[in-house]
Amino acid sequence: MTATRLALVGIGKIARDQHIPALAASDAFELAATVSRSGGIDGVENFETLEALLAARPDIDTISFCTPPQVRYAGARAALDAGRHVMLEKPPGASLSEVHALQALAQDKGLSLFATWHSRQAASVPAAKAWLADKTVRSVRIQWKEDVRVWHPGQQWIWQAGGLGIFDPTINAFSILTEILPVPVHVTCAELHFPTNCETPIAGEIRMDGPSGPLVTAEIDFLFEGDALWRLAVETDAGTLTLDKGGAVMTVDGATHGGGDKDDAAIHGEYDGLYARFADLLAHRASEVDLRPMVLVADAFTLGKRIDAAEFIDPTLQES
Ligand code: NAP
Repeated sequence: MTATRLALVGIGKIARDQHIPALAASDAFELAATVSRSGGIDGVENFETLEALLAARPDIDTISFCTPPQVRYAGARAALDAGRHVMLEKPPGASLSEVHALQALAQDKGLSLFATWHSRQAASVPAAKAWLADKTVRSVRIQWKEDVRVWHPGQQWIWQAGGLGIFDPTINAFSILTEILPVPVHVTCAELHFPTNCETPIAGEIRMDGPSGPLVTAEIDFLFEGDALWRLAVETDAGTLTLDKGGAVMTVDGATHGGGDKDDAAIHGEYDGLYARFADLLAHRASEVDLRPMVLVADAFTLGKRIDAAEFIDPTLQES
């Protein structure tokens, strides 16, 4: 099999932690170039701008974007305009309408557009979806709590409009929720806590209804100290299914089920799954853009009551 040449744009935390190792392990892709303002990685040709890459490397026909959401659209549009297939980190953009525009452009040009949700590739998500398929869901409790100072040090874009704040991780929970629940849900109310010096929320609570009334509560917190809590508990007519560690570990009434085990690290193997899926989409010239997780986040912002919270000072930026 000839590997597809791919360029990676934005060599930050997720590119280094996940994309580069997943591409190194993939037979389907070859990391042929990077676009990085800060130098890229050893041994791979780097371009300072996407425009320079698009002009110099017509042989690279797939581009994977790991940039922050606020700058994702301009790059993805330029890549599609230049006839390249595109893969997007989550969230796929800063607004729904810009992703709709990318979808339409990809379709017009007959190119593949893949809006990824890495948490859907977590080890136990398929087993949870299968188990829930014939159950009646009575309630869902999401707890998505982590320490932004540990997981996102120095990432100022998270606190700027379009960066989502606590919804940057919470959208992972919503991507799992919309994948595994056998019924649709919609946001009914939210309370969001905004540090007075930030444009995005740091904590909150969101409620959603299903077809028969109240169904989901999400408790979200970006200042949670200790081990991160990335958990969805789904109470059904046949017991309570719990997905822990971001979807890696599944239990039903306390007994382990599914593909993951208790020692699975969150994110482990998720990006191998994403690149395998992208290869499959490319082989069929197909796109995959499911915006349901982003709709839930957008609706939480629309319906959310805004509550002032204490200023947030990133200790990393204080030190530098
Ligand atoms: P990050 O560490 O801040 O890296 C983003 C990179 O994008 C920067 O290092 C920079 O790379 C490039 N960039 C281009 N324009 C930029 C701008 N205006 N401001 C800041 N950076 C800019 O962020 P990240 O954690 O990798 O997150 C990137 C995306 O991946 C986000 O959408 C996030 O939700 C998603 N994601 C992150 C994680 C995680 O654990 N961190 C997990 C899953 C998904 P160059 O210097 O190379 O240009």
